[in-house]
Amino acid sequence: MKFLGFYLRELPFFDFNKVAIVLINFLIFFLFVSVNRQRKFRDFRQRIFALMGVFMFLWVNFAFLARLFGLYPQIATMFLRIAWSATPPLFYLSFLFLIDLINQRERFKTHVKLFFFLVSLLSLITLFTNFTVRGISFSSGYLDIIYGAGFGFFLLVVFLLIILTLVPIFSAKLDESVRVFLLGLIIFYFNNLFFNIILPVFFRLTFLYWVGDYSTIFLLAASTYSIMKYKFLNIEVLASEFFVLFTAAILFLQMLVSKTAEEKLIDFFLFASVIFLGTLLIRSLRKELAQRQELEILNTKLKELDQRKDEFVSMAAHELRSPMTAIKGFVSMILDGDVGEISAKAREYLLDVKNINDMMIRLVNNMLNVSKIEQGKMVFNEEEDSLSRLAQIVFNQFFPEVERKGLRYELDLPRDIRDKVRVDVDRIQEVMGNLISNAVKYTDKGFVKVRLLQPSKKTIRFEVEDSGPGISEEEQKKLFQKFYRVETNIGKTTGTGLGLYISKLIVEKFGGKIGVKSKVGFGSTFWFELPLVGS
Ligand code: ADP
Repeated sequence: MKFLGFYLRELPFFDFNKVAIVLINFLIFFLFVSVNRQRKFRDFRQRIFALMGVFMFLWVNFAFLARLFGLYPQIATMFLRIAWSATPPLFYLSFLFLIDLINQRERFKTHVKLFFFLVSLLSLITLFTNFTVRGISFSSGYLDIIYGAGFGFFLLVVFLLIILTLVPIFSAKLDESVRVFLLGLIIFYFNNLFFNIILPVFFRLTFLYWVGDYSTIFLLAASTYSIMKYKFLNIEVLASEFFVLFTAAILFLQMLVSKTAEEKLIDFFLFASVIFLGTLLIRSLRKELAQRQELEILNTKLKELDQRKDEFVSMAAHELRSPMTAIKGFVSMILDGDVGEISAKAREYLLDVKNINDMMIRLVNNMLNVSKIEQGKMVFNEEEDSLSRLAQIVFNQFFPEVERKGLRYELDLPRDIRDKVRVDVDRIQEVMGNLISNAVKYTDKGFVKVRLLQPSKKTIRFEVEDSGPGISEEEQKKLFQKFYRVETNIGKTTGTGLGLYISKLIVEKFGGKIGVKSKVGFGSTFWFELPLVGS
């Protein structure tokens, strides 16, 4: 181990260390300012974040300074104590940040108070006494910490804090911002444990301390992300600001150290251009961000309205369905002769009433289905059935309407066809009803032909062919969209443009496909295919 330690020490860590410390300080400061600029210190999470920044700053810098002043044991010890006293508060703040993130502040109220006292006490003792850090010693030119009597207790509190922070996660719903925060937290914990505890305590390797110390940056970055997510802070803007500021700072430093006046002038020019162009860039990014935020807000409002509209439609549809079902029942009773003989004229009118009522029921069902399926509330009762049987039932429902329009109406069910499908029988009948009803509705003369086919061993196909107006290719593409109705038909017939949309949703739900073949002036053939059972 000694050999390994020796070897590692030869690597140029120290220079890296210097660069890293500057970079980390800059980053802490930068994130600190950006996150808190939005609404100054009003928000709980922002306040916690600000405090986290402060403690990280103390920890990282004083740990570095302690190493830098290693030759002066008293000063180095003092610096180390400052660094170590900043550690428990940082762990504590991460805990606060997390419970706020998962909305469980109430639940951990007592822990919050208890640990506040414990952590404050521990920090103060660490800072002013030799309880945790007793002093430093030098072994082969490197700084080692001599731990105090309370070091075990110190570790215990930190472990308890870690556990306390990790436990609520198991019961929480983890959205993305929580997950990212956790990742940062865990990297931070792990590095601390490994480089600040395991290596120094068990292997006496202290010179890699900085890895643990600097990993605070993961915590910082992750909490920045969480704040950004819920505050609409934007990563592009943040990154550009960081980049511009950082470049400008380097150029400024270079200007200070450059020797000749000529060099200074060039450096100044570069510096000024970066500031100028950078400001322009950031300003335009900000403007874009503001617009995007506005759009996002509007979008949320729109979605809310849309949802309320859906709720209204489904409520209205529901209310309409019961009276229509009642009408259907009574009309059927009269037509079946339950109330005695009726005149031929009355029968004709009642048949019309029945047809129109059936159409309305179909429409209302479609409306109800759409909202249910879209909200994922539709329950499908899947069972095996013969598609021929179902086609026959639905086919029969349209006789009166077809007769009234004087259309030729045919059904072709091949005897030897395999037709077992696994579907929700009611729903698939609604789909067939939609297709036949459309064919009848849009065809004024000629025929409507319904048939079953077997396009392949594994599928069965239901087709409705009509001699109606046909549909252009342009419009065929949009037919199955919600609320779409073909221009030329609007006004001629009633409809909502929901039938085909809902049919598509249902057919696809059962693993099938739906489509149309049509040419303007030559009628249309609407079809759907379903997988056969046992194929
Ligand atoms: P709706 O019939 O309520 O308007 P659909 O979703 O069932 O809604 O149909 C969408 C559009 O497709 C209809 O408005 C109609 O213009 C067109 N369409 C559907 N079936 C046919 C057909 N067989 N012949 C001609 N056009 C049709």
